[in-house]
Amino acid sequence: MITMRFKKFDIEAYKPGKSRIKKFRNITKLSANESALGISARVKKIIANKNLNLSRYPDGKSKALRIQISKKFKCNKDRIICGAGSDEVIQMLCQLFLKPKDEAIVPQFSFLMYRIYAKIVGANVIFAKEKKFKVSLKEIIKRVSKKTKIVFLANPNNPTGTYLTKDELLELRKRLRKDILLVVDDAYAEYMKNKDYKSGLDLFKNKENVFILRTFSKIYGLSSLRIGWGYGSKKIIDALNIIKPPFNVNEVAQKAAVESLKDSKFVSRSVKHNFIYATKLKIFLNKYDINSNKVSANFLLLDFEKCKFRANYFYKKLKKKGIILRSTEDGYKIKNTLRLTVGSKNDNVKFMKAVESIFNK
Ligand SMILES: *Cc1c(COP(=O)(O)O)cnc(C)c1O
Repeated sequence: MITMRFKKFDIEAYKPGKSRIKKFRNITKLSANESALGISARVKKIIANKNLNLSRYPDGKSKALRIQISKKFKCNKDRIICGAGSDEVIQMLCQLFLKPKDEAIVPQFSFLMYRIYAKIVGANVIFAKEKKFKVSLKEIIKRVSKKTKIVFLANPNNPTGTYLTKDELLELRKRLRKDILLVVDDAYAEYMKNKDYKSGLDLFKNKENVFILRTFSKIYGLSSLRIGWGYGSKKIIDALNIIKPPFNVNEVAQKAAVESLKDSKFVSRSVKHNFIYATKLKIFLNKYDINSNKVSANFLLLDFEKCKFRANYFYKKLKKKGIILRSTEDGYKIKNTLRLTVGSKNDNVKFMKAVESIFNK
């Protein structure tokens, strides 16, 4: 036998929201915060175009897309980098900023990819406690050391659904040492209707020491195509471009993303749908003593503390009916909660009926 030597990581591999249940051909998947309305008809048309030339390498700089993004969000195209999902941009940021023993601060309950990529490059991940499932400025500041290089933050946060207000975000930047990069992940920004919220991009467009993440996986419904982008200082973007895999974003994804930015009607329809159903679901679940965060993004963190059932029991009961939620126990390490994605009208109705039958037995 040959003993092959390779690095060992103390990492729990990312487990995505489940999309299959044994014995069910069609399931209702409310586990991955995907778009309730799928993708826009205009984008579908682009993807179905027979003239897409897929035997050529894609534009490695995603130039047309960066121009479209800069128009749509009134920002500088030379400060944008596109990635195979914002995921890949997180990975590149970790490669660029973190040496072994450097520290990256992440909130206690936060998107798992920050800690995974930080650990892969040898950095230490420092967890900042949250208060009632909300990111705490104080706890983040407390964790800062000489070795801190990056603070990662999704706003609103996944999986908790809570968010820092505009004022809190500004204060956080002010209180962090200037040479620490604050990464604000705007993955769910489009859904936000809350008056005291402002996206990272809107707040920090001109800051040298803030990096913004955006994705086409959520409201635009392009998760399978793997496309997202980052926005930062010209210096950081230039450095990222040196380590970026040459053809990281495929041609179909680039074209679909350009078109999706033009279809603002689809986006407003999605936002409206989301707000109506998130509110409905929240009120509905409250009747069964299942509490959740204030409506924000396209998901709710369901808290079973006051409920007569445990989250685990509820999860299994739903699964038997072909409905799948996101467990928060492994990975996120939150006990007795589940994350529910707002689905299509049919999904939500099916879910509510299933809940009624679980409780009325
Ligand atoms: C879903 C999600 C993303 C998107 O990841 P992609 O790689 O772009 O699909 C990024 N950040 C957070 C917090 C998310 O929940």
